[in-house]
Amino acid sequence: MRLAALVLALIATLLVPAPAQAAPADGHGPLLPPEIARTLHHSPQTTFHTATAVDYPAELRELTRVLDNYTAADDATVHAGMVMLYYGHGDAAFVPAVQAYPEVLRALHRFVVWHTDFFGTDRAYLTQNATRELGRFLRHGVLQPTVRPLLADLAARGDVVGRLAPMWVGVAEMVDWYDKANCGRYGTCDFRAKIDRRVLTVRYTCSTTLKIRAQQMTATELRQTCASLAGQDAVFHRVVRDPGPVAGDRNTSLEVVVFNTAGDYRTYAGVLFDIDTNNGGMYLEGDPAANQARFIAHEADWLPTFAIWNLNHEYTHYLDGRFDMYGDFTENMRTPTVWWIEGFAEYLSYTYRGEVYGDAIAEAKNQTYALSALFDTTYDHDTKRVYNWGYLAVRYLAERHPADVQAVLADYRAGDWAGARDHLTRVIGTRYDSDWYGWLSSL
Ligand SMILES: [Zn+2]
Repeated sequence: MRLAALVLALIATLLVPAPAQAAPADGHGPLLPPEIARTLHHSPQTTFHTATAVDYPAELRELTRVLDNYTAADDATVHAGMVMLYYGHGDAAFVPAVQAYPEVLRALHRFVVWHTDFFGTDRAYLTQNATRELGRFLRHGVLQPTVRPLLADLAARGDVVGRLAPMWVGVAEMVDWYDKANCGRYGTCDFRAKIDRRVLTVRYTCSTTLKIRAQQMTATELRQTCASLAGQDAVFHRVVRDPGPVAGDRNTSLEVVVFNTAGDYRTYAGVLFDIDTNNGGMYLEGDPAANQARFIAHEADWLPTFAIWNLNHEYTHYLDGRFDMYGDFTENMRTPTVWWIEGFAEYLSYTYRGEVYGDAIAEAKNQTYALSALFDTTYDHDTKRVYNWGYLAVRYLAERHPADVQAVLADYRAGDWAGARDHLTRVIGTRYDSDWYGWLSSL
């Protein structure tokens, strides 16, 4: 089948979301369904290459047939169809083909309506993507008369909360991007305010520097979270021995946003905060001179007891950004600092909680990287290298060479990225590598 043939070529593009403005955090979450990248607001470019041009008239007929006759064996084919639609907008032959065969638009609508039972299950990505890909056609004026009533119907069937919220929010976001002037037709004009008011209903002040906005947390859970964060400050300062906030940092307070589940995080956090949500949480430092620092997280709903996933890891990013790393995230990325940023967040999180980092200890046995190699880690490397090996590198230096940590941090605090880089690559260089391998074996 044509669509199936496209799967392998295209799917790889979707599974690797580009790093956003914020520190891409933490690939430890539950396995996420491959979703159409949500942050590409503007003309998706045709970034895939096939040997021949796509035969859109045939593909659109085939997709319509598959959607109308869907069985559980068709998941990959439907997904490939969504990928084709997503990238089609960048191709001149695409819109005329859709215009000539608008049945595919009605089939997308039928597919969502017939399978609303997918929402809330691990097949939700199929109906969620179908909703969004239908909505994406709003960008083309010639197709708006066909698409508008279909989308308005979907919006009317859902609500900002509840099981169908991913459908409702999907419509709202597409309307916001492509048909904002007519949002009244869909009943979604104030959707961000609605999410804020009806989803994030819990407001709690831990202290003058710390606030929580949450979807569903009990008084005990709120107090427990505040206490966990408050207790981390002292441990942080003991390790980094900072002289106070870095120059120009006015992020005196932090807002912690907590969604109830990983699914809710994916439904709401993207539209509310303009972030990628194929991750386990995100810290948004923003402009440290001006704005409200915030991290966005969710409860670990797959664990038996209450926990906010990556809570202490993300909180470390806030403290690190305020007391160690000069300037904003873009500034911090001018040289490879990921070994420290993510490694230290892992190190402090595990150390503070007194937990054994089993994955990293297991990795240590493999002796995969020299210490000197890890100083070059970037977000393009895999999550084992970024998180597990980052942890090992930071822990090794903190335990065996705290003076080097102090020297590098002094440069990071001053924004002397070249100085820090010089310390890592020339002063330290490879001189600890053999000791490092011995230390790894001793863990
Ligand atoms: Zn992180």
